[in-house]
Amino acid sequence: MYYKQYGNTNMKVSAVGMGTMRYNDDDINAGNLEKCAEIVLYAHEKGINFFDSAPFYCQDKSEIITGMALSQLPRDSYFISSKVNLGTLDKKSSADDFRRRLETSLKRLKVDYLDFYYLWCMLDMESFKKQYDLLYKHFEQAKSEGLIRHITVSSHMQGNDLEKLVDTEAFSGILIGYNALNYRFRQAGIAAAYNKGMGITVMNPLGGGLIPENPEYFSYLTEGSDLTVAQAALRFVASHKEISVALAGCTTKEHVDDAVKAVEGLVEKPAAEIYKEYENSGLALNNLCTGCAYCDSCPQGIEIPKFMDAYNLHIFGKNMADRLKHHWSLPINKAAECIRCGKCEDLCTQHLPIMDRLEEIAQLN
Ligand code: SF4
Ligand code: SF4
Repeated sequence: MYYKQYGNTNMKVSAVGMGTMRYNDDDINAGNLEKCAEIVLYAHEKGINFFDSAPFYCQDKSEIITGMALSQLPRDSYFISSKVNLGTLDKKSSADDFRRRLETSLKRLKVDYLDFYYLWCMLDMESFKKQYDLLYKHFEQAKSEGLIRHITVSSHMQGNDLEKLVDTEAFSGILIGYNALNYRFRQAGIAAAYNKGMGITVMNPLGGGLIPENPEYFSYLTEGSDLTVAQAALRFVASHKEISVALAGCTTKEHVDDAVKAVEGLVEKPAAEIYKEYENSGLALNNLCTGCAYCDSCPQGIEIPKFMDAYNLHIFGKNMADRLKHHWSLPINKAAECIRCGKCEDLCTQHLPIMDRLEEIAQLN
């Protein structure tokens, strides 16, 4: 296994970590949690020492399963994270509510402390500011009591917002979605976090499965290697010098083997070098939104990058209504408010037909 330093800390983390949101559903439904826990033990045996957990994953069993496995291992042989936000606290924000949530995670994971506790899933600056103001003091209190080692944040923000979040200097690490699909416009955020000495963990390195499911778009990643598209996509992320850990969601031991193979003999390179290397590759990606958010100043208040992200899924044959409703919590009919002023298309770095795409989305209603 290839290990990297996590930001300015002295933690040596495995270049791939295990995301614990993909335990086998059939095993969970059958109550066979031990079988799921075996995946964690297998990953640890293969050198993975970074496990990312959260409440509610896997029918709210993820922390329990992960704890069953981790409790069999020496505490100093792994790093474990969990997450909290107002949503997990039923919108309450008192010190007691926060403490109850944290203690539930500690108990389920069978640990005395978490290595990383995330302010979870910040979708935009407005929501971040609100949750930061209400909850950050509770994080600091828990840290002062040794219940958490590092206060970290996870974000789905796009474009420059990521840099604003980094500028708060309130967090030792950040968890972001980054992959061969959106990397061109996440460079600035990654560089900002790295320059501040933050650990950078990447979720969604396979673009929610889109990358391995569409090899015709992404096979350029495998050139000169014997890797599959999925392995190459994971290696692509892990090879960034700035990135500490790339998370792989593992359901089976084969998934663990894939993740381990992806970083065998890894060579780290600065993001700028990687960007240059792939600059002219993957030209088929030109009709996809990269999430750069340059268009994000719609006079009608339409959150264009989120709508275009959903449209990406449509291009790959997935359900964009689901993405809008369940991932972004956006009403589809907002797309119908476009007045075709053309401002966004003038700004779009990919020259996408945003207005037509919004019209198509509006018709889903
Ligand atoms: S064309 Fe439509 S979506 Fe684009 S900026 Fe104008 S109103 Fe907003
Ligand atoms: S629609 Fe264009 S400008 Fe807007 S986020 Fe996507 S690629 Fe960037």
